[in-house]
Amino acid sequence: MGNLKQDWSQYPVTAFLIDDQQSVTKSIQKLLKHVEHINLYTCNDPTHAINEILSIGPTVLLLDIHMPVMDGFAILEQLQQNEAIKDIPTIVLTVDTSIETKKKAFMLGANDYLIKTPDKTELSLRLRYHTRAYVDHLERESTLRALRKKKDEFKVLIQKLELSSYQDSLTLVANRRGFDEAFAREWHRAMRETTPLSLIFIDLDYFKQYNDFYGHLAGDDCLKEVAQTLQGISQRPTDFFARYGGEEFVLLLPNTDAIGALHIAEKLRIKAVSLNLEHQASKVCDYVTISLGVATTIPMIKHQPRDFIYTADQALYSAKKQGRNQVVCKGI
Ligand code: GH3
Ligand code: MG
Ligand code: MG
Repeated sequence: MGNLKQDWSQYPVTAFLIDDQQSVTKSIQKLLKHVEHINLYTCNDPTHAINEILSIGPTVLLLDIHMPVMDGFAILEQLQQNEAIKDIPTIVLTVDTSIETKKKAFMLGANDYLIKTPDKTELSLRLRYHTRAYVDHLERESTLRALRKKKDEFKVLIQKLELSSYQDSLTLVANRRGFDEAFAREWHRAMRETTPLSLIFIDLDYFKQYNDFYGHLAGDDCLKEVAQTLQGISQRPTDFFARYGGEEFVLLLPNTDAIGALHIAEKLRIKAVSLNLEHQASKVCDYVTISLGVATTIPMIKHQPRDFIYTADQALYSAKKQGRNQVVCKGI
């Protein structure tokens, strides 16, 4: 018995009795007066019941059925419509023993049914039982809410991680992995749609000498500035700029022919040199310059994607060989 008492104290009952007859509310008050951990509120005007429930926050309701103006069924319906209180367990407390009334009450959301005037022990036990079920239910709900929140936080974190795994941490442009995926996607799309695909390889000139002359950290800053600037040149949403590796970048241009790609490559070259980033160790210019290799194709089954990349790389190699700070175009 000692253990049981302790258990009940963990679930203090706040009961709320709605009954139009004062004699009933008084007798139930008297019945529960000295029962431990049961606190009883009462209401004789059913039209005020919902507001009082909202302000008191009971753990269990005792509800009369036959009342003037607003009966117990109407209150059951109103409870169901209010998210904040719809789960509070409701014990119907009535003189009505008809099966029809019982059926209707349960259909409208009642949890239990007692005939007036109930035995003190039975009433106490039922109030405690429903309170415990309700408190446990609230705890489960709050745990569920916390879990859902954590799940949402994880989702955001995973999205951020996914995003960062496609981003180069120094220059903040897309990385090689991002390029590889975009390239595979656009290659197949261009093949399906028989549209031209262009690729520009971009490499900073004499960048080893830049590092040697200005230091590696200045080299990092330079790479970042050039990358950020060049990324802003192409306009179409499907154009894809990425760091290919080291001081080498790529610009993938879907649905762009050789003339269009050459035009953009030249724009990139001019933009880079006009940044006026001093490069005293360069043998081609007093400022940082880039060399560019352009390749264009309409992909076909017989083509190998890596041959296309190799062609752009070869064009870049030619631009280097021919004196740097220039664009060379090749087709496959
Ligand atoms: P070229 O004109 O023929 O392209 O000569 P280069 O010196 O630019 O080419 P090379 O391939 O010999 O050297 C590339 C240099 O780029 C060497 C390397 O230290 C530098 N580099 C690559 N990645 C980074 C980086 O993340 N930060 C810095 N600061 N330097 C880098
Ligand atoms: Mg270089
Ligand atoms: Mg290089």
